Amino acid sequence: MANALSKADERRPSTRPILGCIADDFTGATDLASMLVSAGMRTLQTIGIPETPLEADADAVVVALKSRTIPAKEAVDQSIQALDWLREQGCEQFYFKYCSTFDSTPAGNIGPVTEALMEALGTDFTVACPALPANRRSVFNGYLFANGVPLNESGMQDHPLTPMTDANLVRVLGAQTRHDVGLIDYATLRQGDAAVTARIEALKAEGVGIAICDAIDNEDLFVLARACRDLPLVTAGSGLALGLPANVAERLDHTRDAARLEPIAGREAVLSGSCSRATLAQIEHARQRMPSVHLDALALDDDYQGVVDAALAHAEAHFVADAGNRNAPGPMLIYASASPEEVRRAQQRLGVQEAGELVERAMAEIAAELVGRLGVRRLLVAGGETSGAVVTALDVKGLRIGESIDPGVPWTTALGTDEPLALALKSGNFGATDFMTKAWKLMP
Ligand code: ADP
Repeated sequence: MANALSKADERRPSTRPILGCIADDFTGATDLASMLVSAGMRTLQTIGIPETPLEADADAVVVALKSRTIPAKEAVDQSIQALDWLREQGCEQFYFKYCSTFDSTPAGNIGPVTEALMEALGTDFTVACPALPANRRSVFNGYLFANGVPLNESGMQDHPLTPMTDANLVRVLGAQTRHDVGLIDYATLRQGDAAVTARIEALKAEGVGIAICDAIDNEDLFVLARACRDLPLVTAGSGLALGLPANVAERLDHTRDAARLEPIAGREAVLSGSCSRATLAQIEHARQRMPSVHLDALALDDDYQGVVDAALAHAEAHFVADAGNRNAPGPMLIYASASPEEVRRAQQRLGVQEAGELVERAMAEIAAELVGRLGVRRLLVAGGETSGAVVTALDVKGLRIGESIDPGVPWTTALGTDEPLALALKSGNFGATDFMTKAWKLMP
């Protein structure tokens, strides 16, 4: 691996990534990558830990794990593997990204992963700041607020996997780590980065290993980012990413637009397996503006191949009928998304897990056919799990992150596929109602 990397390095001396990020879930990784792009870093996102060296150039790389709620030991192992890979690619500073609602339990995984990364990097201090002012997540005196109320009153206290019953992050993180946890408070932040740096030195002298950092608006995050310039490791939500690129501004190529993607031409399709409210509204909007096919979960159970083939025949007819046209045929929508009642009916008959997997399998197979046989090169996928199934089926190894369509959902180009492919992967509740129609106009 080291040899291949150094060869790539000789070819492109200035393109080693500077910032290496480890995100504890997929959509969180995309959110972080989009932030970095908007702040001027050319950014790649990998899907899991790559087995080969990075072949494309970038200023930042985000490794997307699915480690938020797995057992702490596994989360630690995966995070350390991701760190090792990022170090091999030449990254110099590291960013552990978690949710802006600090999703975790007393068993982890934020504390144990942070601890392990600190040890591996040989550092005795880091910061922890989930603040994301754009989404109304702020930290004040160590207390996390979501949408203006303390975290434990925000609905997060009822989260099925990571119920957050205490808004005091010094306490919450303290329960997850051997390190002493301290606070860099708002008053210090308001004095600027020199004061924050002095506070970091004072905390270190007291033996504090991790400091929760207050931040209410983006300016606070810029101050904090400047003070983090020399830390080997930062841990945060995606907000801190706004400020970090400025620390290495002189090393970034400002002649190139960080969001620029190679244009990709070809047929267009939307696949949706998300049943979230926002997606249902987007489908309603899109159905009136493009041809569509609905996949019924129960029909799939009765005659899987028949339903998949019928959907593909529909798509083929749409693309081929229009092939003689001088104008491109425009996108086609294939969706399994259904109302809560319809989903419940399918789940009652098939089982919750089984219904989900059946639909995901169909979506994955349709995606592979659309791309492999029908020439689709621009694909929009709605649903977190659905996106996971589709990128696996298409053998996508990573994504180059481009312009955002709506906050948190950028256009991307796939890395590692045989054919060039533009992808937009949307998790359930993201995107405005016209998402599925306006996305095409924002492509390069
Ligand atoms: P979101 O990001 O909105 O949560 P996901 O793709 O992560 O969307 O999850 C939606 C789940 O619902 C997937 O497992 C998908 O296969 C499943 N699903 C989609 N349509 C149906 C349906 N009609 N009946 C039952 N399950 C469905």
